[in-house]
This record gives sequence, structure tokens and C-alpha cells, in this order.
Amino acid sequence: MSQYWSKIVHELTPYVPGEQPKLQNLVKLNTNENPYGPSPKVIAALQAEAADSLRLYPDPDSSRLKAALAEYHGLQANQVFVGNGSDEVLAHVFQALLKHDLPLLFPDISYSFYPVYCGLYGIHFETVALNAQFEVAIGDYLRPNGGIIFPNPNAPTGIPLPLSEIERLLAHNTQSVVVVDEAYVDFGTESAVALIHRYPNLLVTHTYSKSRSLAGLRVGYALGNAALIEALIRVKDSFNSYPIDRFAEAGAIAALQDEAYFQQTRQQVITSRTSLVSALEALGFEVLPSGANFIFTRHPAYVGEQLAAGLRERAVIVRHFKKPARISDFLRITIGNESQNQALMQAIRALVQA
Ligand code: PMP
Repeated sequence: MSQYWSKIVHELTPYVPGEQPKLQNLVKLNTNENPYGPSPKVIAALQAEAADSLRLYPDPDSSRLKAALAEYHGLQANQVFVGNGSDEVLAHVFQALLKHDLPLLFPDISYSFYPVYCGLYGIHFETVALNAQFEVAIGDYLRPNGGIIFPNPNAPTGIPLPLSEIERLLAHNTQSVVVVDEAYVDFGTESAVALIHRYPNLLVTHTYSKSRSLAGLRVGYALGNAALIEALIRVKDSFNSYPIDRFAEAGAIAALQDEAYFQQTRQQVITSRTSLVSALEALGFEVLPSGANFIFTRHPAYVGEQLAAGLRERAVIVRHFKKPARISDFLRITIGNESQNQALMQAIRALVQA
């Protein structure tokens, strides 16, 4: 029946998300979720919302959440855009800000949703190779372009880019929008939010899915100059959709009000990451420097796909990318809680001799 499809649907290569397994007792370290769960204050806010307000429509402007996020980040409410996860925010960003005659630039090894959005919205793009150390090399982006987007820290490598490099890019690149996707920024990477007041072409996206442990609630947001935010609102309003529902808004506000829990859990992830890196290195693994809640690692003596399969047989799931060839021996492993990390290391020791 595909003769009924639009041409663009034939041409699309949809995004393939990490597996959400149906089996219960797997050690799930494949999609960078947070092992600790959201703050108890979020759960209380969701219960209160359920009891009081579900018969009412949500606020079409998410004004309470925008005000709370603006205050949290030291910005104005008109510098904040909210959506159902940062994937949806990014969809609006690609449509509203990144479709131009010159090509959009992003790293060749990066978040695999970017080329999907380009296909969906007919955006001309060019990828820029990571350097020999798998880093985003800012010098290679200093040329005419229709926009630049990259995650910081990058995914799936986890490597953070210092703020000075982002500033170098912004100082040179004034004619197009620079989007820094900070999905994992809270795990030890410097945020570019502090640069927003100086660079009107900088847009930063954040998510509640990782450091706030609310992947199931679907909340993401963008921060930037009010003119960039206005473009996003125009695209959103053209769908006539609510940005987020009542649970999402109530939960997202409550999460911001529990700074102590946020600091404690993100620090715990960072501490566990350090231990995991040492344990893997002791077994001969190479681990790329990580500013994220995951690590990207390979062992010189083992094939990545076989290691991933071996872990799965031992009920541990991690992410393996077959392509491009340059990363096909790497595993992307989410930092879990203590028992998950122990189970991971036990399974790895069974597969790899030191
Ligand atoms: N950006 C990057 C780099 C990601 O890895 C992810 C998570 N898959 C997202 C954005 C989207 O996250 P979410 O839609 O859950 O906010």
C-alpha cells in the first residue's frame, strides 16, 4: 500500500532508538537513563496534580515552568522554550532555525537523530569528521554554513568540549545559529548557558531525561535569545499542540525545587564513573574521557559486537553501534547504580582476561 505514501516517507531512514527490553531482570545500561529515580518531591507533585487538576487542560504556554527555568538559569521567561523531551524541542529547532541554503554542519559521529531530522525537513547538511582523538575539532567548523549543531558532551563518545572552544566558535561564527545540545551536561561538562547573554545566535538545549531522572515524563527545553525562542514558538503554534501536559509541568517544576537531590545523584553518577573507568582500564580497556553519564570504551583484543553479545547472554545490555566502522569496536555503557555496575564488571571479567 506504500503507493499512497508521500515521496519523503519513501526517502526517510527513521531513527533507531536504543532497545527497551520487555524482560524484567536485565541490567539495563543501554539508553543512558538515570539509575536513581526522580526526587521524592517530584513524586509528591505528580500525586497532587493527579488528585487536583487532571480534568483541566494544561497551560498552552507552560508559563509556570518557563518562569521557574528562567529563574534557575538566570534568564528571562522569553528566553525559554519547553517541549516533550529535547527530541521534540530539537525537531522544532531544525525546522525553525537550521534550514538554509548553506549546509548545516554537525560531527560525523554524533547523535543519530540529527540526520533523521534533516531528511524529514529537507535540510541540506554536511558532516565534519571527529579528529584522531574522537574530539569535535572546532577549527573544522569555521567556514560558511547554514547552522551548526553538536552535543556537548558529544554522544556517543561522551567527550566534553571546553567552554573556551565553544566561545572560539561563537566569536567566529556570527551569521548562523549554533546549537549546543547539552543533554548530558550535568555530569561534569561546562555549560554554554552562561554565554547566551553575549551571543544572540547561541541556542542551548537541555533535557529532564538524564540528570533529573525523568525520561518517562518527556520534558526538554531550549534556552537562547528571545528572537530564537520566538521562531520556535511560531513553529510549535503551527501544530496547535500543547507543549507538555499537566504531569510534565508539575513534575518538572518540582524537580527544580530539589537542588540537594539533584546535586547528590549527579555527583554519585560522576563518582561511579571514575570507579568504572579504573576497573575497565585495569582489564586493558581504552575508555574515552567522559563528561556524561555513560562511557565509550573498547578493548584492543576483542570485537565490540561480540563483547556486546556476550554481555547480553549474561543479562547486561549495553549499546553497540555497527556503523561507522571507526567506532564499531566500542561499547557505550550507561553508568548504573552500585549493584548494576558490579553486575557489569562481573560479566565483563567473565568475557575478558586481564
Ligand atoms: N540529545 C542527545 C545527544 C541525546 O542522546 C538524547 C537522548 N537520546 C536526546 C537529545 C533526547 O533526549 P530526550 O528526548 O529524552 O530529552
